Amino acid sequence: MADVAQTDAVILKAAKAFESWRKVNPGDRAKLLRKFAALVDSHNEELAQLEVLNSGHTISNARWEAGNVRDVLNYYSAAPERLFGRQIPVPNGIDITFKEPLGVIGIIVPWNFPMPIAGWGFGPALAAGNTVVLKPAEVTPMTAIRLGELALEAGIPEGVFNVIAGKGSVVGDRFVTNPLVRKIVFTGSTTVGKGIMRGCADQVKRLTLELGGKSANIIFADADVEKAAANAPGAVFDNAGQDCCARSRLLVQSSVYDKFMENFEVAVKKFRCEDPSLDTAEMGPLITAKQLETVRGYVPENTKVAFQGSTPEGPGYWFPATVLEVTDVSERTYREEIFGPVVSVIRFEDEDDAVRIANDSEFGLSGSIWSRDIGRAVRVSRAVEAGNLSVNSNSSVRYWTPFGGYKQSGLGRELGPDALDAFTETKNVFFDTQL
Ligand code: NAD
Repeated sequence: MADVAQTDAVILKAAKAFESWRKVNPGDRAKLLRKFAALVDSHNEELAQLEVLNSGHTISNARWEAGNVRDVLNYYSAAPERLFGRQIPVPNGIDITFKEPLGVIGIIVPWNFPMPIAGWGFGPALAAGNTVVLKPAEVTPMTAIRLGELALEAGIPEGVFNVIAGKGSVVGDRFVTNPLVRKIVFTGSTTVGKGIMRGCADQVKRLTLELGGKSANIIFADADVEKAAANAPGAVFDNAGQDCCARSRLLVQSSVYDKFMENFEVAVKKFRCEDPSLDTAEMGPLITAKQLETVRGYVPENTKVAFQGSTPEGPGYWFPATVLEVTDVSERTYREEIFGPVVSVIRFEDEDDAVRIANDSEFGLSGSIWSRDIGRAVRVSRAVEAGNLSVNSNSSVRYWTPFGGYKQSGLGRELGPDALDAFTETKNVFFDTQL
């Protein structure tokens, strides 16, 4: 739990390291990132086990998460040699743009996906020639620290990639106020994100925000209803619902509502909530006693539930997969991000109704549309206000493609080729060639 002075010391170290890291020739920087990726790969099982112990993630998810860090590093290792500027035709001279690194990037990460979310920041940041100070969440520092060690082992020079554990209000806040940090990449709650945005305004500090969500899973009558129902538990209960992309609002067309719910009930009861270190586990416990209390606050004992999954006997912050039927959209459970395994199901009549209900939220991160009518799938995916939609799928994150939110779900995009713009400044230089 670092204090302000320790945080300043690490930021200063990163600022000094920037002077030499930005000058490392692009091919060598690429090789170092690939070496780092190879070490993350050869330590996949160790990192995954560490995450299971620290976060209660299922082992299969944790292996995917460590694999995602490897993939992101490999993907952005191609960037240093391809950070092209432009030559722009102008009168009386030559005009060239350069893509230049910003300096020290402060990355602040939540506890729900400690490895990938850190990697989405440090992968492109390092590739573009920046240095990094990374603050994991208070309760999940383990894999971040191990990734920092692996970066050093890969030969990334000391001071380039720094991990500093501590409180958000101390270390995270200092990233915002210390002028040597040139950009903040923040993933976390909308409330904290708004405070960080205000703080960054003082120095016009660059900022990427990935915030909360309350995403819609829309099932049309013309969908493969069995398939949609079989996939719906994973869409919301994965990581025990502690997922910013969780499809925690389920919108089902009236004419197939009963059929869908019958199939969904079978799928929820089959969804395996158990010791997360077992290969068969699909859902583990919640992260902390506090989070369990928060979820119980939304679903107290006397709540009328449609159906629930099971939880194992014995100690642990378990909460069952819970399905609520909703008629009043002003209910807290329907509007607020619960960040637990709770889904609200609501009926809709037609396409316009579905879009209206889906967009009736302050958030706009993800969502799914289930339909076999390609025209409808295109129309609805264009009309829903969210940054990451998938048709006949629950997938949200693909490292090749941009990820981020509309409305209060965030600002800017991570991943894909566009993320490099978020870690560079464009410099324009005009050369006068007149005699
Ligand atoms: P949180 O906002 O409480 O904390 C996130 C991080 O911010 C932590 O590292 C914390 O220490 C730090 N922090 C807290 N106060 C701070 C301050 N004043 N200044 C600087 N840093 C501060 O969020 P959480 O509870 O850890 O994570 C859950 C939230 O994250 C959910 O709302 C979820 O939707 C969101 N999330 C969003 C995405 C996305 O990509 N959009 C991904 C994962 C999680």
